[in-house]
Amino acid sequence: MKELLKRIPKVDYFLNDKDLLFLLGDKPRYLLLKAIRDVLDEVRQDILSGKKVEPEPDFLKEKIKQKLKGFLRPKLHRVINATGVVLHTNLGRAVISEEVAEYLKELITGYSNLEYDLQKGRRGLRYRNLEWILKELTGAEDVCVVNNNAGAVLLVLSALSKGKEVVVSRGELIEIGGSFRIPEVMEQSGAILKEVGTTNKTHLRDYENAISENTGLLLKVHTSNYKIMGFTASVSTEELVRLGKKYGIPVYEDLGSGSFIDVRKIGLSYEPTVQDVLKAGVDVVSFSGDKLLGGAQAGIILGKKQYLERIKKHPLNRALRIDKMTLAVLENTLVYYLDEKLAFEKVPTWRLLSQTQEEIKRKAEKLIQLLKEKNFPARISLVQDTSEVGGGALPTQQLPTWCVAVHLSPERLDEVLRGQEIPVIGRIKNNLYLLDMRTVMPSEISALSEILLKAANSVKMV
Ligand SMILES: *Cc1c(COP(=O)(O)O)cnc(C)c1O
Repeated sequence: MKELLKRIPKVDYFLNDKDLLFLLGDKPRYLLLKAIRDVLDEVRQDILSGKKVEPEPDFLKEKIKQKLKGFLRPKLHRVINATGVVLHTNLGRAVISEEVAEYLKELITGYSNLEYDLQKGRRGLRYRNLEWILKELTGAEDVCVVNNNAGAVLLVLSALSKGKEVVVSRGELIEIGGSFRIPEVMEQSGAILKEVGTTNKTHLRDYENAISENTGLLLKVHTSNYKIMGFTASVSTEELVRLGKKYGIPVYEDLGSGSFIDVRKIGLSYEPTVQDVLKAGVDVVSFSGDKLLGGAQAGIILGKKQYLERIKKHPLNRALRIDKMTLAVLENTLVYYLDEKLAFEKVPTWRLLSQTQEEIKRKAEKLIQLLKEKNFPARISLVQDTSEVGGGALPTQQLPTWCVAVHLSPERLDEVLRGQEIPVIGRIKNNLYLLDMRTVMPSEISALSEILLKAANSVKMV
């Protein structure tokens, strides 16, 4: 054992190695040092624990190379989404188009007029461009944009109902992923939760009976990630608006996903659009920037000037301010909604949602053809299935899709595919590994075939 330990080369032996330095490129030398130390430590531990390892320099160099590669690669990187979930919160939600990304690159590699009025030559407003497009699209009187919709809810409640009661239906006290719970957000904002109705039924009279001189807001929350079915009743936005008007209390709707396009156009059942909610007369509405809008993470607040002014002046607004990258992505995405046909074409979320069955099937067939040309070592087949919108939007609705099924041990294949340099995330259904082609971009198919081949070979080898 002592003999083996003595034979481990010193750190310096690798630190000036030409191959390793080449791999390191212009990155800090500390990363190489750390890779060397980690590998030498591991080997030392292995030897001490009685494992039979030969501390050969070439063997160690290869291990250091692999470790260094791991350090050099950002931990956040591209994956191929073959889950079919278009707005997958764990996989980065909305995809941004090449055009917008190009624009972003141009914008952020130099200075910009983010808060500079070029006409007047002095400080200008940060949100002016977003403001005009959003007003144009929705007819809203005023606009505020913050870091995300969770932040928007906290800001609106803090600004409009601190110390006052907020009336909300029991059926809408939602929790969504990442510990966002309406009752807790309410508490944080300083507003007092006034639950009305029951889990499955809430009537207008429930709201009305709860109104007192301490009522600050009537709140409606979109039940984004579940549906109450069966013996149910809820109060429409219009009815709530009428009640609010009668008592002079503002009405706020947290729309969650918030679409500008009627989802019936992609074959789903009706959900109110942002425009519908504003037309119904709510005083304030908020929604996410990276769900059905297909832009960047943000919370968009629209509504009547008198309330938006209070919201914009609240200190939380400054704390939840969005970055210029977000601003640029939103502005360049929103503009397409001025012509819905263009939105379907240019906003990747809508392009993915509105693909025809034929288009998806063609992608699946293309993948199968490439795999067959490469003598793929397992059976593959074309399978019809359904995909989800995701992002806590339209929880019970499904879109028909086409998948490529790979007939190999599904758990094993899943694990190996997740471990590839460009990881692939598919789904397992009825003990079958499926690649849902709805969310695979045409430009990814060739790379996907290579990754699958490599993964299948390694699954087969064991
Ligand atoms: C998604 C969602 C939120 C949170 O939005 P983020 O942009 O993810 O912060 C809040 N409320 C509802 C109803 C939602 O669906």
